[in-house]
Amino acid sequence: MIDDLVEQLRAAGSVFAEDEARVLSESAGSPAELDSMVQRRIGGEPVQQIVGWAEFCGLKIRVEPGVFLPRPRSEFLVEKAIGLGRRGASVLDVCCGTGALGVATAIGLGSTELHATDLDPVAVRCAAANVDEVGGRVYQGDLFEPLPRSLRGRADLLLLNAPYVPTAELPLMPREARLYEETITLDGGDDGLDIQRRAILEAPFWLAPGAHLLVETSDLQAESTMRLMKDVGLAMTLATSNEWGATVVIGQK
Ligand code: GLN
Repeated sequence: MIDDLVEQLRAAGSVFAEDEARVLSESAGSPAELDSMVQRRIGGEPVQQIVGWAEFCGLKIRVEPGVFLPRPRSEFLVEKAIGLGRRGASVLDVCCGTGALGVATAIGLGSTELHATDLDPVAVRCAAANVDEVGGRVYQGDLFEPLPRSLRGRADLLLLNAPYVPTAELPLMPREARLYEETITLDGGDDGLDIQRRAILEAPFWLAPGAHLLVETSDLQAESTMRLMKDVGLAMTLATSNEWGATVVIGQK
């Protein structure tokens, strides 16, 4: 039965047919529901939207229609953040989307001081459900603007996976992203760095001395991201992973 499902999904072009067959059959309450889920998947809807959650760092992260789905590659940023953090660290997740990065970092560290922000009310509602699980808080607004002033100069880890796709490259995104994620979650402006630029400029005001800022970027944009960090006086290093296809620039105050 599961083998048939794998075949059906593979024939429809699914690259991760085994994983998807497992997730769909675990989530369906009945054979009829499974059938309708499979039809939606074959129609192109992302499996995470069909079941309402995404697997990230071994966690079930709740998702809602239109939000940015956590990418496997961002697990690399979380790994780095956990390596730099300590138990009880104060974690900020800016442009949090579902909140996946902050939640996974907080769980990895055993930390409950997580503050996450996003501009998009749908992301904030979705993140609230995820972040609540670890006792953190979510705020709606642009970058740092909605955060309590009392957090200034106190963050031990600042995580940033801002939209970084250059506007002209949006039409080249995979169909699932173009059709099922809001443009605002992907569009980084002309060079893809508009949001990173503003966030990195303000980041030092929120970091504690010695604290770290971790920014996911693309390999082509890494040099520019590093320059932005250098310009605000942060010491920076580049972390890349071929396995994850991930590039993270890490700044230290
Ligand atoms: N190219 C990235 C992706 O779709 C963009 C991620 C982002 O903008 N944060 O995974």
